[in-house]
Order: sequence, then C-alpha cells, then structure tokens
Amino acid sequence: MAGRIAFASLGCAKALVDSEQLIARLRALGYELVPEYEEADLAIVNTCGFINPAIEESLEEIGLALEKTPKVVATGCLGARPEVIRKAHPEVLAVTGPAQFEAVLEAVTRALPPDRDPKTALVPPRVRLTPRHYAYLKIAEGCDNKCSFCIIPKLRGPQVSRPLDEVVREAEGLVATGTRELIIIAQDTLAYGRERGERGALLRLIDRLAELGVWLRLLYVYPYPEVEALVEKMAEGKLLPYLDVPLQHASPRILRAMRRPGDAERYLERIRAWRRAVPDLTLRSVFIVGFPGETEEDFALLLDFLKEAELDRVGAFTYSEVEGAAANALPGRVPEEVKEERYHRLMQLQAEISSRRMRRWVGKRVPVIVDAPGEDGAWIARSPGDAPGVDGVVYLEGEGIEVGERYLAQVTDADTYDLFARVLRPLPWKAALGAK
Ligand code: SF4
Repeated sequence: MAGRIAFASLGCAKALVDSEQLIARLRALGYELVPEYEEADLAIVNTCGFINPAIEESLEEIGLALEKTPKVVATGCLGARPEVIRKAHPEVLAVTGPAQFEAVLEAVTRALPPDRDPKTALVPPRVRLTPRHYAYLKIAEGCDNKCSFCIIPKLRGPQVSRPLDEVVREAEGLVATGTRELIIIAQDTLAYGRERGERGALLRLIDRLAELGVWLRLLYVYPYPEVEALVEKMAEGKLLPYLDVPLQHASPRILRAMRRPGDAERYLERIRAWRRAVPDLTLRSVFIVGFPGETEEDFALLLDFLKEAELDRVGAFTYSEVEGAAANALPGRVPEEVKEERYHRLMQLQAEISSRRMRRWVGKRVPVIVDAPGEDGAWIARSPGDAPGVDGVVYLEGEGIEVGERYLAQVTDADTYDLFARVLRPLPWKAALGAK
C-alpha cells in the first residue's frame, strides 16, 4: 500500500466532481483513502474561495488537517491564491489551484511514493462521493461572465466546455452503473459550447442525455433569453421541471452594479411565461443582500419582487467582500448589522411564501426518487422540485421501498420546505443502459 490519504472536499458540486476525479487517480496509484485525518499519512483539502466565510472555513479545515496529519496538500479554488493559504499556514506541503490534478499528484507522490507508476496506472474517470443513484455531470469549467462580486473567472479561468460526445459517454457510464438522476453543472450551464461559437449546444446535449431514460436536472442557469428554450425541453418531459436561476437581486440599479442583466419587471414577465409553459415548474433562485450601495428602497424592491414572484426555493447570502472582486471598489458599504437584519427579513418572508407554495402539492400525485432510509419507518425521497443537498425532501411512507427507485406518491401533508407522502406504485426506470 502506497500510503493512507484523508480527503476533505469543501464548496460546491463543481468542486465535488474535481474531488471525485482526483480520488480516482489516487486510488489508481495504490493509495488508501481513510476517513479521519488521524489515520492518514497525508491529507488533501479541496478548498473553496467563493466568499469570505468559505475562505475562512477552508483555512480552518487546513488548520485542522495540519493538527492531526503530518503532511497537508491544499488544492481547489482558494489554491488559486496561494499567498492566502501560505500566510495562514506556511507549513502546508503544497498549494495548487482548482482542477490542477497533475500538480496535486506530483506533490503527493513526492511525499509518499506510490505503488504504481503514475504514467501507466489505469485511471477510472472518478470515484463517486454521492450515492450511486445520482451523480453530478460537469459539462464545462470556468466562466466568461464578469459579475462584479465574483472572482470565480479569475480562479477557474475562462469557460472551457467539454466535448459533447465525451459528456454523453460519461453519462452513459454512470447510468450503466446505477445512476438514475444526472445533475448537469458548470459555472454557467446555459453557456455550454458558447466559447467554441456553438449555438444551442446545451439543448443538443439535453436531447442526447434524455435518451438515457433517467431524471435529468440542470443547475446554475444564468438568466439569458435562451432559458425559454430550456423550459420547452421541460414541457417535452426531457428535463425535470426544475429551474435554478440565480437572479442575485431585483433592483435594476443593484443589478447593474453587479454587472448582471434584467430587472424586477422583466424577471416577473419571464417567470409568468415559464410557469404558463410548465405549470408544475419549481423555481429556485439565490440573492445577495447588503451589496454595496443597496438602499432600503432597493431592498424593498427585492422584497416586493419576491412577494410577486412567489419563487419555490430561495437561498440568500449577506454580501461579503472577496479579495480581488471588482465590487470591493464600489461606494456605499452596508453595515453588517443592516445586512443581517435584511437577510432575516428576506428569509422570514420567503418562509411564508415557501409554506404557501408547498401546500399546493397536498392532495396531488408526484413522482419521487428515494435517497435513503429515514427515521420512524419513513424514507427520505425527493420530488422533481428537490435538488439534493440544497432543497427540501419528501418523507415517504409505504411498503417495499428501495433506495434509488422511483415511485408515484400521494402527497398527504407539507411543512415550510418538505412534503409528506405515501407510495401509490413503483414507476420503473426506462434506463436505456439499465444495469440496476
Ligand atoms: S456567472 Fe457570475 S457569479 Fe457565476 S461564476 Fe460566473 S462570474 Fe461568478
């Protein structure tokens, strides 16, 4: 055995896929993955550098690893700013940027010689960190947008889309080994193929993936006009009726300062049209409160927008400065206590909206996929309106329930974010490559 490695993966689903690929490479070289730092000869921390709380969490995790493991390699988004990591933890063995697998492997193999030759070891594409029945499918790396609060384009570079056939091959492999829900991710999924001058590449990809006969969910959709074409794919049943469009704000003044398109009126019109096309649509969005220059009037506009839009799922962050972001130079810094107070007002309002939205499902029949056994005889499942890890769940009751299978369920009750349902009958998958 080459040595034991503990791995911590922080941040978003995109970073999780990087971790999965890196772990596969480490296993192929003969390293054993262990769950605790104490048991490891070396630790790898895949960091997140999106906002200050994430940076702090990453630095803390590196500190924790250093306390318990003799050697630590830091990689991931925060690794693109090695000086931040080195300043807090000068003793780390190596610091590498996001998806820099070769550099991580070089640092690891230097510190802990591998069993096999890195040049000839057969590498499986990735080792899954999610349950077998769902998987993230990363279709591009990097981002070409210039949102003023974000340094992801600096960290991960401009967008590079994966070839369509390669993505389809990966999806086929995942389905053949039991995946029943594919979750398409990128920094900006709707821009897939755009840097190569391809138009409609994502729609073509959806058509191909829909042939696999499993649930297909799309995350991180930038509010381009092309969203309408995605909604058509949902109406055709090729894509789950779940639209994750981070809008960030509703005040045109703040959106301009964020270097993002749109305004409340335009968004409301589009939301109405999306819902007309797909009545069972679940709409998810994310907002930043306390952005520089946000007045009480701007914030009231955001609350009015939320009341009118009645979004199903809403996440919110208080604005926090990230070193290197253009927004840092904007005037009108909002005091922390005002940000917090606005955040709580927004979340309180959204909890009321969410409760109302969830009640509309009571008495209806919904398809669900089962994630895990729960407590008190109920199972943890999700409807098309629930993305794993970020949304609510469906507490499912009934006989003969199995993880990864799909059922038609009768919704019996709802609370603020979750549903309660009883199984009516199985809904067998038509997975084209179908090994269970
Ligand atoms: S779309 Fe905007 S927020 Fe998202 S990664 Fe790109 S620059 Fe950052």
